[in-house]
Amino acid sequence: MALNLVMLGPPGAGKGTQAERFAREHGIPKVSTGDILREAVHSGTALGQAVQAVMERGELVSDDLIIGIVGERLTRPDALAGFVLDGFPRTAAQAKALDEITALRGPVICVEIKVPDEELVRRVRGRRVCDDCGANADAFEHKPDALSDLCQNTERCRAVGPKWVARSDDSETVVRERLKIYWRDTRPMIEYYSARPTFRVIDGLQSPEQVREALVGAVASALGRPVAQ
Ligand code: AMP
Repeated sequence: MALNLVMLGPPGAGKGTQAERFAREHGIPKVSTGDILREAVHSGTALGQAVQAVMERGELVSDDLIIGIVGERLTRPDALAGFVLDGFPRTAAQAKALDEITALRGPVICVEIKVPDEELVRRVRGRRVCDDCGANADAFEHKPDALSDLCQNTERCRAVGPKWVARSDDSETVVRERLKIYWRDTRPMIEYYSARPTFRVIDGLQSPEQVREALVGAVASALGRPVAQ
């Protein structure tokens, strides 16, 4: 049976880190809409040029655009055995579109990671991403010499070393705008999922390892069968 997982929660909750690891350990792709859009901006494609300003303001790109991107990505062969979605859906229209895309593909498990707003603001201030591979690091948690282990070492990262930068939308002002949009548009959508038998909530204030264990437990309980640790 396919393993379809949607990670829900505010910016900075740890969705990306957990999605990355869960996907790797279960042999399914991580589909992060934020990563797809950042890559487009980085490469200067038409998509990147269309979304750059919206992303820098911390606003959401249009539903039609993002639904088209996710629809195309989830119908590629590697996603048919399952996927981990990170950053999508974020609105009621996106949630409805995901239901349509996955209608014949087995249950969709939705896990919300909960973290209070003030902790989110603190975390994103320390968040760094490798400008080449998109790997995430926490400037407060990781000593500088441990950072290179976190990089995915693409060819360019290997050649010149990871280039850790703060995301342009992680400034405190933009983060507060993203949180406002989260509470206005995304949190009500999570309510829509919360009535489903495959919905679970986990505490994102735990250590990353504890969150990982809680995530595996939540997925197993939603599926009604164990999943690989
Ligand atoms: P993230 O890395 O998930 O925080 O996404 C970074 C930015 O990309 C967001 O602040 C939005 O501007 C845009 N974005 C990512 N996913 C979506 C989505 N599902 N709907 C609309 N905009 C999105």
